[in-house]
Amino acid sequence: MKILVLPGDGIGPEITSATLAVLDRANSLFKLGLEWQREEIGLATLRKEGTTLPLRVLEAARASSGVILGPLSTYEYPPRDQGGINPSAEFRTKLDLYANIRPAKSRLGVGLTGKPVDLVIYRENTEGFYADRNMHVGIGEFMPTEDMALAVRRVTAKCCERIARRALEAAMTRRRKVTAVHKANVFRISDGLYLREVRKVAKDFPGVQLEEVIVDAMAALLLRDPMRFDVIVAENMYGDILSDEASELSGGLGLGGSINAGDDHCVAQAQHGSAPDIAGKDRANPSSLILSAAMLLEWLGGRGAALAAAAKSIDAAVDAALKDPATRTADLGGKLGTQEFAAAVAAKLARAS
Ligand code: NAD
Repeated sequence: MKILVLPGDGIGPEITSATLAVLDRANSLFKLGLEWQREEIGLATLRKEGTTLPLRVLEAARASSGVILGPLSTYEYPPRDQGGINPSAEFRTKLDLYANIRPAKSRLGVGLTGKPVDLVIYRENTEGFYADRNMHVGIGEFMPTEDMALAVRRVTAKCCERIARRALEAAMTRRRKVTAVHKANVFRISDGLYLREVRKVAKDFPGVQLEEVIVDAMAALLLRDPMRFDVIVAENMYGDILSDEASELSGGLGLGGSINAGDDHCVAQAQHGSAPDIAGKDRANPSSLILSAAMLLEWLGGRGAALAAAAKSIDAAVDAALKDPATRTADLGGKLGTQEFAAAVAAKLARAS
């Protein structure tokens, strides 16, 4: 199976090489038969080819079994007509990666509040407020006069239905509870449509409890009582913001894995950005991308039990490395560099007996 590897910008190359160190070990230990195809994107190809996402890379992603995507310095990209394409947004729309799945699980025994967290956010990934992906032609943000800016949010029954279904299916394998986040008290029509679809899908899952929480209350409740939540389903922007909060609660932004999944394609992508402030210093924590890669293996798990076993083993190895203060990175008060941490995780990989 061919996996496309795109290191990206900032700390991307460092955390990607750390992730490959772990995957290489898993590949040989579990005989996964994975092959890496490396390609450049982002600021590297902008300089050489005038675009942050060459068409051949998009085609390679379409042809691959899965993609490992490093973070991107999208804030530094020029406008689209000058080559600044957000590869992450482009993959989400062109490969129809409609579910951004972001688990948050306490890994160090202590989170920010000292309370345990074990939840997963199902974030709609292809529409909502995201102006760079919510229009068929053009972008959903425009400026009628120099002192007025408008942004349009798209909400469709189809996209609400499918993210709700994936969330409810996931709940069947967990604590059988789904929390639907919304702001229907203000966005009565658009979030009203979203809630209508979630409720409709929930009828197919009578064994799952559905709770509805307004997004601002949700931000507070997550801090107050994180274990109240198990599977959270949210539109694009609510899910983006709440997943950073949940990730931070579980121990830090550098810790949560994340995949962008559709019916046919899956892209593993860290939850955090390109962290230009620490790029090139071997100080980044690669856990998020390593755990994202493990989630990709789990997503591919239907193609062989070894993939699912390798995913479990990587998750357990990251847990074990993070638990020990001697094998932590600087963001968690530890002494290990990015590559040393990856070596520690790789050394802890084991086949279940
Ligand atoms: P960021 O997530 O890159 O960084 C926020 C803070 O967290 C920084 O202090 C950073 O050093 C720290 N941090 C992030 N990841 C870390 C890690 N793995 N280990 C240790 N510390 C880590 O967010 P930002 O500074 O707002 O954005 C920087 C750039 O990333 C921008 O260009 C933004 O557009 C882009 N971005 C990209 C993605 C993506 O590719 N998916 C997501 C968010 C932001």
